[in-house]
Amino acid sequence: MERPPSVDKLARSLADTGLPHPMLVDAARAAIADGDHTMARHHAEQTARRLLQPVVNATGVLLHTNLGRAPWPAHDAGRYRNLELDLTTGERGSRQSHAPALLARACGAEAAMVVNNCASAVLLILAALARDQGVAVSRSELVEIGGGFRVPDVMEQSGARLVEVGTTNRTRRADFERAVEADGVTLVMQIHQSNYRIVGFTESVTTAELADLGPPLVADIGSGLLDAACPWMPDGPPAWLEGEPAARQTLEAGAELVAFSGDKLLGGPQAGIIAGNADLVRRCGRHPLARALRPGGLVLGALQDLALTYLRRDGMAIPFWRMASLPIDGLQARARALGRGEVVATVATPGGGTLPGVEIPSVGVALDGDHRERLRAAHPPIMARVVEDRTVLDLRTIDPDEDAHVAAVLGSLEDPA
Ligand SMILES: *Cc1c(COP(=O)(O)O)cnc(C)c1O
Repeated sequence: MERPPSVDKLARSLADTGLPHPMLVDAARAAIADGDHTMARHHAEQTARRLLQPVVNATGVLLHTNLGRAPWPAHDAGRYRNLELDLTTGERGSRQSHAPALLARACGAEAAMVVNNCASAVLLILAALARDQGVAVSRSELVEIGGGFRVPDVMEQSGARLVEVGTTNRTRRADFERAVEADGVTLVMQIHQSNYRIVGFTESVTTAELADLGPPLVADIGSGLLDAACPWMPDGPPAWLEGEPAARQTLEAGAELVAFSGDKLLGGPQAGIIAGNADLVRRCGRHPLARALRPGGLVLGALQDLALTYLRRDGMAIPFWRMASLPIDGLQARARALGRGEVVATVATPGGGTLPGVEIPSVGVALDGDHRERLRAAHPPIMARVVEDRTVLDLRTIDPDEDAHVAAVLGSLEDPA
């Protein structure tokens, strides 16, 4: 009988996978422990597949939570940068002086700061401005937004006291007035419902109606649409944006602060932005949690590039906005050029817990059967959907540079596995 190879020898035989030796040793050990050393390569490949890597998004979901929401390139990786250095004076500077100032400029805010994500932004605002004090929120806005972000839980962690106002379906300005008089409310908060809608017998209060209640109004708009007029889009705002709250207009309507994500409709890296009244932004920045929630230079550099792109009004250089506005005929031509499957009409969606029910007409190719596993095993992996027993690849979210790879992988599907 053949003797099993040594762990070391087996690990060395997998060196072509590119994984570091300790990972190969683990794969070899796992295979030997299972009594089948021929499985070592499979274990190593599984390990490689669990690593973070570029993925082709053929799902048609523009902000796919499992694929990191918005795609946006890193900035100057591997270089020193003046993260906390003022190059004019040579003195210590602030990491909050680059990207945040540009984002404030782009949405018409007096000041802005950046934290780790929008959940952090809300937590920091509440801890810095309303600890041990009442915060009035409409019952219709006590929402859970994917991944366990629950407004009442965040409020509790911040040390602020939730004052619930109105009812689930109807809240009026008079409800807020009573809460402010009776409950020692020092902050009024609006939270965008983001991923759901209440329809039917409903009534809600606008930002403008809450702006002059007395306490400062903070709006968690979530999605990070900077300006409802979309001056960065050559043809203005797309029709499907209708009704989405935007930072500039929410501040103009009287909110003192807005909070939003960096990686939803803003189209950038994971981040949370707090923008508005300079004094309130400063108070957030001075709170001890600001240090714990601050982003690193990689994120701030990427956000700076993004803010400059917005200020240049070059939306077509922002992958999210470019993909969202691609005309149908170009998608059809690319689908035909793939040369595989049937060209079909599809519906893409913004995704990312934004704009529920919004559909963007799109184009895909459909192949009979469920090929998701084979597509996921490609290098780079391709993520597709299965609709009515057909695998559908939506061209809207596929980068044109990836078309050749997609065509090659689809071609290989037709060979028997
Ligand atoms: C998405 C969302 C959040 C959470 O944002 P993260 O950046 O994922 O932390 C908070 N509030 C609203 C209204 C949202 O839409």
